[in-house]
Amino acid sequence: MTSITSWGRLRAAEHSVVPLSDRESAAQVISSARRPALASGMQRSYGDVSTNAGGTLWDCRGLDKFIAFDEQSGVLRCESGVLLRDIQATFSARGWMLPVTPGTAMVTVGGAIANDVHGKNHQSYATFGNHVVHLTLVRTDGDVIECSPQENPDWFSATVGGLGLTGVILTAAIQMKRVPGPWIDAEDIVFESISDFFELSDASEAEYEHTVSWLDVTTDGGRRGIFTRGNPVAASTPEPRETRLTFPITPPASLVNRLTLPAFNRSYFRLKATRARRRVEHYGSFFYPLDSIGDWNRMYGPKGFYQYQSVIPRRDAEEATRAMLAECSQAGAGSFLGVLKTFGDVQSLGMLSFPEAGVTFALDFPEHGEQTEALFARLDSIVRASGGRLYAAKDARMPRDMFERGYPQLERFLAFRDPGISSELSRRLLGS
Ligand SMILES: Cc1cc2nc3c(=O)[nH]c(=O)nc-3n(C[C@H](O)[C@H](O)[C@H](O)COP(=O)(O)OP(=O)(O)OC[C@H]3O[C@@H](n4cnc5c(N)ncnc54)[C@H](O)[C@@H]3O)c2cc1C
Repeated sequence: MTSITSWGRLRAAEHSVVPLSDRESAAQVISSARRPALASGMQRSYGDVSTNAGGTLWDCRGLDKFIAFDEQSGVLRCESGVLLRDIQATFSARGWMLPVTPGTAMVTVGGAIANDVHGKNHQSYATFGNHVVHLTLVRTDGDVIECSPQENPDWFSATVGGLGLTGVILTAAIQMKRVPGPWIDAEDIVFESISDFFELSDASEAEYEHTVSWLDVTTDGGRRGIFTRGNPVAASTPEPRETRLTFPITPPASLVNRLTLPAFNRSYFRLKATRARRRVEHYGSFFYPLDSIGDWNRMYGPKGFYQYQSVIPRRDAEEATRAMLAECSQAGAGSFLGVLKTFGDVQSLGMLSFPEAGVTFALDFPEHGEQTEALFARLDSIVRASGGRLYAAKDARMPRDMFERGYPQLERFLAFRDPGISSELSRRLLGS
């Protein structure tokens, strides 16, 4: 048994890990594993969607081969354990990149599909699943299902954003996007209020592919932030050398607390504000700023941390964002990470995909037991009242009825579950 913890490091649990590395034998290995089992990638999900305490994990990271790339159409076929980092590095030099990427490249293709991840360009390119043109799914009874938006479309929509519960994704074909090179014409703009964020978003969405904001969520009521926007651009600048620091130890207590947070956020704001400008930036630092600090999740100490990510329909988003910030202030709980971003209105293909037209707000909180739970309960009320929902890829505690209400296609999805697969999240939110 191996002790595994997800990115939030809230709990470590023993798993029997079965590596998958050869796609020819994968179906046989999958069908003979001890149940319940679950596929896993890089464990970059924050909560319990990727863990199966006491059970089996099929470790898909060994399924790491590119299978074919069509230079004409830009369709890449690969195994599901291939990292987004390796796709971007290999194909950006050839003028192609992934159309959608999350805020870390240390994610597998299988993990990106199972959570139907989004990036900074949702308003233009929707989610990762919108660019998957085919996938091969292996069920625990040994069945192999080929699916795409045209072939077995229901299996496809159940598996995209299906939280790993419909089977193991063995391979995927992804429609890549033509780019002028690995560069982004980027700009940071300082804003002083939540209304400014909404104005900047409205003014930027038509002309900028990528938009995202960092918000200063401090206990003293800071509401300023940095709005970042950008477009792909051609440039002849040499590519930067990768520099990577690693957070060396897990400190005995969270370094993010009431005393340190205002100072952290003030310094970060000043640093960004003094450098706020238009620049040509490499996609690596633009898309994946946190990837340059290995194991940064250790900074929250041995008890770990939660990420609370909601999406609120646009109509109520401004009021709900203010209300959530007020709750954080009242609870004396600031967040180092406060990311606000708009989602466009392209429909996700997955039955359980998280994004919907509106505004998503992500906040990180160190685990402080009942105090943290009480704050979450208040934030939940705001999300419920405005008809929003929470992101399962980040979740470790949402109440079951909130999941049921937030995901109206859940009942339809259940028919596609693989009975041999279960995660801690599925046991918590679906009862098995
Ligand atoms: C710094 C950071 C930034 C992030 N930014 C974003 C962001 O901007 N947008 C966003 O959407 N997410 C973001 N995330 C979350 C992350 O992109 C997702 O959690 C992603 O799914 C993790 O992929 P993984 O390979 O680590 O999969 P894991 O976390 O190991 O697993 C995730 C899910 O995928 C399933 N799975 C994995 N492989 C397979 C397979 N082969 N077949 C079937 N199911 C499989 C698992 O069962 C599980 O349900 C971020 C995470 C971090 C740490």
